[in-house]
Amino acid sequence: MVMTDILDVLVIGGGPVGACIAALLVRGAAGSATPFRVAVLEPKRPQMPLSDSPIDPRVVAVARSSERILEVAGAWAPPLGRVTPYERMRIWHESVSAASSRALVFDAADVGEPNLGYIVESRLLQAALLDAFVEGGGWIEPAQFVGLRIGAEYVNVDTSSGTLAARVVIGADGAQSAVRQAVGLTVESSDYRQTAIVATVATERSHEKTAWQRFMRDGTLAFLPLADGTSSIVWSADDSVASVLLAASPTDFALELDRASDWALGATRLISERASFPLRRLAAHRYVAQRVALIGDAAHVVHPLAGQGVNLGLLDAAALAQVLLDARREREDPGALRVLRQYERWRKSEVAFMSSAIDVFDRFLAHGTGPLARLAQHGLGWVNRSQELKRFFIGRALGIAGELPRAAQRPARIERRGGALS
Ligand SMILES: Cc1cc2nc3c(=O)[nH]c(=O)nc-3n(C[C@H](O)[C@H](O)[C@H](O)COP(=O)(O)OP(=O)(O)OC[C@H]3O[C@@H](n4cnc5c(N)ncnc54)[C@H](O)[C@@H]3O)c2cc1C
Repeated sequence: MVMTDILDVLVIGGGPVGACIAALLVRGAAGSATPFRVAVLEPKRPQMPLSDSPIDPRVVAVARSSERILEVAGAWAPPLGRVTPYERMRIWHESVSAASSRALVFDAADVGEPNLGYIVESRLLQAALLDAFVEGGGWIEPAQFVGLRIGAEYVNVDTSSGTLAARVVIGADGAQSAVRQAVGLTVESSDYRQTAIVATVATERSHEKTAWQRFMRDGTLAFLPLADGTSSIVWSADDSVASVLLAASPTDFALELDRASDWALGATRLISERASFPLRRLAAHRYVAQRVALIGDAAHVVHPLAGQGVNLGLLDAAALAQVLLDARREREDPGALRVLRQYERWRKSEVAFMSSAIDVFDRFLAHGTGPLARLAQHGLGWVNRSQELKRFFIGRALGIAGELPRAAQRPARIERRGGALS
């Protein structure tokens, strides 16, 4: 690729969401008469982890919608080794025990599914998608975004290694998005005053291919099952609690974890470093401007308690790829505001619904006191007794409810590729 070419699309940020739209675009346009010239600006491309390297503590739960999108993007292979299917979720409030009938259990078998999703390392997801993009004919520029100038026909983008021009620029550069700021797209944002601590732990009892989640008055604790029998924890704790947990010795941390999990998986042992993430909610007022669109965390950040951040971002990627590819097929200018607004209208309402639902869980289950909170806590048991309500929630957790992009609908069997997630 010659740097003076005008690209069709420049994706800024090759995280899982940016890498996904890039792979979808090059593969979606494969076989058409004119090539779709797509580049990704990403200064920190991860390597595909070696099969015997330890599992990175930073994992995400990938829903069925995401599995389908990854398959279309060419980054999904049968789940072996490092990709762990989970078959059940057990969710309970600290006022009852994990085994209580007032705990909520979602079982894939209840809805005729083989599993509820997969636990995947973030860096593996990102590496597989970037590899699929490059195999599809894409180009990665290892540079940093500096600024942009939007013209009538294209956008000039200044990077740490020179200037690029593209007809459409996609900001996929995460929660602190420099693209969003450069374009002047404003956000509504609030601090949860919580910090998420992630780590890998060994547990005395088997995780039983189950994602375990306990809501407490000062946070939420999840154990996500890993293929080697260990679990990845995501402990979203009030800031004051988190600072004590992060300063504790590994042994004291494990004792606190045992107490917080109510020994649901027996005694635990810390087997990785602890990483921490301050938690904020963020929603961009607009996702698009002339020739520019935001996707993933650049457009919205949600609380990790429902494991939906990447899944929402991959749905953004699939929806925007579809809008851009359709516009191209119709010989429309894909950067026209009219075209990009179709994507914004579609995804903004879906994301707002999910984000509000997640906040209700945080407010009433993790932190609530008073009658409404008690109602929500009892609600887990009521949902558990209703097959209809369970099916509704499982549909949402699988990401197969709402208006789905074509890539997230059940795909025809397509050839599974080597070198992708496996
Ligand atoms: C503790 C925790 C647990 C989570 N668990 C889950 C889960 O189970 N399931 C789930 O779906 N989601 C989960 N999430 C959310 C998920 O991690 C994010 O939603 C996801 O990483 C967003 O992906 P992204 O590609 O939009 O942004 P990012 O992952 O932030 O990627 C942004 C990319 O842009 C690049 N970049 C940044 N600035 C520039 C620049 N100036 N120039 C060029 N490139 C740039 C960065 O290098 C990076 O690669 C969790 C989040 C947290 C904090």
